[in-house]
Amino acid sequence: MDTGRRHWIIAIDGPSGAGKSTVAKRLARQLGFLYVDTGAMYRAIGLKALRHNPKLDDVELVASIARASTIELMDSADGPRVFLDGEEVTEAIRSESVSQAASIVSANSEVRRVLVCAQQQMGSNRNVVLEGRDIGTKVFPQANLKVFLDASEETRARRRFEENRCKGGTLSFEETLAEINGRDRRDSQRTDSPLVRAEDAVYVDTSGKAIDEVLREILRLVEERQAREKGKNSHET
Ligand code: C5P
Repeated sequence: MDTGRRHWIIAIDGPSGAGKSTVAKRLARQLGFLYVDTGAMYRAIGLKALRHNPKLDDVELVASIARASTIELMDSADGPRVFLDGEEVTEAIRSESVSQAASIVSANSEVRRVLVCAQQQMGSNRNVVLEGRDIGTKVFPQANLKVFLDASEETRARRRFEENRCKGGTLSFEETLAEINGRDRRDSQRTDSPLVRAEDAVYVDTSGKAIDEVLREILRLVEERQAREKGKNSHET
């Protein structure tokens, strides 16, 4: 694969609760790469759309909201922060209603076009780890490494449930399970860029694995790929 690109792109895709955020964040920190949470961008549009029209059924209105929005992802000592039109929405985009709204607006093709374009720009000239649903299939099909993180339904719901409980969430385990199943079904069944594993993505099941173990596995893949590319380049020159 010779894309003429010197910097590295790592794509981490998978369903809700597979461990993408924790893994991608730590991976980026360890490698000194930029971390891009593409889900946060869909969430920001979901939040703004909810504020305009709680029914989210106006395709044109939601598309124009996406076109008119400025989303900034910033790193800080406390972790990544998200700004929507200059307003910090880091916490606001994590509510249950916004999770659902993000999943609905993400099926809007114009929303996807606008956000995918912004994501491609973020990775156009630097080393980056992007996490989402369509990074390896649509945003960067030429990524240097694609990982599809998965876990059993039970594990994914358990993780989300614990995470929400710590933040004061009120959903029961059963409600959490229904919520992530509903969102994954919608994400997998939409016509535009559904959640699917790219053919050349490495499948990693995180059920029953500690985060450090998953991270080590991915870092090993990075080293292997980098060594292979170095070997190829020195062979060619
Ligand atoms: O990753 P996270 O759960 O924060 O994403 C929220 C929602 O945004 C997902 O359920 C999905 O509908 C949408 N999304 C997407 N494509 C991405 C990232 C997220 O459609 N690349």
